[in-house]
Amino acid sequence: MLEGQVALVTGASRGIGAAIALELAKQGAIVIGTATTESGATQISQALNAHKGLGLALDVNDAAQVESVLKNIATQFGDVSILVNNAGITRDTLLMRMKDEDWDAVIATNLTSVYRMSQAVLRPMMKARQGRIINISSVVGHMGNPGQANYAAAKAGMAGFTRSLAAEVGSRGITVNCIAPGFIDTDMTRELPEAVREELLKRVPAGRFGDVADIAAAVSFLASASAGYITGETLHVNGGMYMA
Ligand code: NAD
Repeated sequence: MLEGQVALVTGASRGIGAAIALELAKQGAIVIGTATTESGATQISQALNAHKGLGLALDVNDAAQVESVLKNIATQFGDVSILVNNAGITRDTLLMRMKDEDWDAVIATNLTSVYRMSQAVLRPMMKARQGRIINISSVVGHMGNPGQANYAAAKAGMAGFTRSLAAEVGSRGITVNCIAPGFIDTDMTRELPEAVREELLKRVPAGRFGDVADIAAAVSFLASASAGYITGETLHVNGGMYMA
């Protein structure tokens, strides 16, 4: 389905990003997954071993690294035609106790990086008159969550960014969309206290936490030719949690 595409997935060493990278590779894309460390990059290369692709080290907050990684990909595989902005962090604390560094780090990694990565891949996409940018936001960006004002602001900002960029590049055959996962079973949510997990589960009509494969399938669809007329959208993948 994605034969001939070059996909870049940030934060692909574990969790949702790892599942997205593997799914896009299974669909035939050449996949470059990035991790913050060299060992994470090696892990990604091993996970993609049976397919076309590899892992590279990249801190999405480092503009010089972004530039050199994009050059490296273009030389080895050609220009990126699918970008999945998946890298993200949380630094949960009530607003009254939030420090500037908690705010800045979460906005930088979840939102500013999306601006930086998108800008870095756009020129060749515009020339080729095709491309997909898929931003992994969160149900928290829509519902809010106590203790996550920084994260909610970053993820809500992503939706505005997505709509604006979709309008800018729509005529160039490029689509820009968000996927907003609900609570997915990954390291990020496993860190939550058991009582909080149980409480959250009560708010999910589907009666279960999401699986990373649920998100990977949605990304694969938005990356495909079948989704060519969908842009500026946020696809909620949350077992109905948004409605509850
Ligand atoms: P995770 O913590 O397991 O993985 C996050 C990934 O981002 C890791 O690979 C990490 O190395 C990478 N990363 C962090 N900082 C980075 C940086 N500066 N540069 C490059 N990579 C960096 O989390 P996850 O649960 O797999 O989450 C993936 C995405 O999905 C995130 O954007 C997260 O906000 C979003 N999300 C997750 C859930 C959930 O329930 N797990 C729900 C909604 C949204």
